[in-house]
Amino acid sequence: MAEIIDGKKISAEIKEELKEKVASLKSQGIEGCLAVVQVGDDPASCVYVRNKKKACEYIGIKSKSYELPAETTQEELLKLIGQLNEDASVNGILVQLPLPSHIDEKTIINGISPKKDVDGFHPESVGSLTIGQPGFVSCTPAGIIELLKRSHVNIDGKNCVIVGRSNIVGKPMALLMLRENATVTITHSHTKNLQDICKTADILIVAIGKNKFITGDYIKEGAVVIDVGIHRDENNKLSGDVKFDEAEKKASLITPVPGGVGPMTIAMLMYNCVKAMTGMKD
Ligand code: NDP
Repeated sequence: MAEIIDGKKISAEIKEELKEKVASLKSQGIEGCLAVVQVGDDPASCVYVRNKKKACEYIGIKSKSYELPAETTQEELLKLIGQLNEDASVNGILVQLPLPSHIDEKTIINGISPKKDVDGFHPESVGSLTIGQPGFVSCTPAGIIELLKRSHVNIDGKNCVIVGRSNIVGKPMALLMLRENATVTITHSHTKNLQDICKTADILIVAIGKNKFITGDYIKEGAVVIDVGIHRDENNKLSGDVKFDEAEKKASLITPVPGGVGPMTIAMLMYNCVKAMTGMKD
């Protein structure tokens, strides 16, 4: 039976470390401030934004809220981002996604200064990750690296299979695992023999957005299994992309849903905010 990787506990540890760091930066006169921009009132986005602001308060950095009506134009949003880019009291800018359909997300992401891009979505941040230069890393994949390291998983030389190639999870995840010297295979919806490929993985990372898609038959005995997926059923019960009850019989270590990868995303956003305070130094 697999050991459970406790994302809630690890994220709490990280937030505690960041709280200490923020206090020490404050004693040197360095203050942190995250600008959180939300357009419209999508209920899920409201919950995410509230949790992000709460996390800022917990670690001791300010957050400034910009709650804009759904009719806000792209030009108006870009103007606000321009002002926040110039505002020396703001070190991080977060635009909550998704945006209303009349606004082009790429244009907005490109408008954020790479120095304040705490989500790590700007092309310059992604490019820096690709060629191994300092920059902000997308929070969910960065959180998975922390989960693995703090669970004492040796990544060096291991076969890592990533299921999914999205810009926010799969692709940056592959780059981070490569940076840790794993041998990385990226799979997607056109991949042939997915099950056979997954069975070669010492570390299997699943981000496909399909409820309980990965069954025990995809998992090598003793593999480490990381489940990024989040699905909510009619009774509000959460599950992941991995069929947990089957997977835990095969894996040596596994993340549950909820309580695995999910809590790490906000912890790593806070990590990026602290990094922004210190001018990109870790
Ligand atoms: P996307 O929908 O952007 O990407 C899904 C990826 O899975 C695509 O690359 C797609 O391939 C691939 N895929 C789809 N079906 C198959 C299949 N049958 N076989 C192999 N690959 C397949 O999703 P995200 O990466 O944004 O998110 C994935 C999941 O993670 C979702 O459940 C999401 O809610 C969750 N999530 C959780 C986060 C957290 O904090 N825990 C953060 C972000 C996401 P192709 O490219 O060919 O279409």
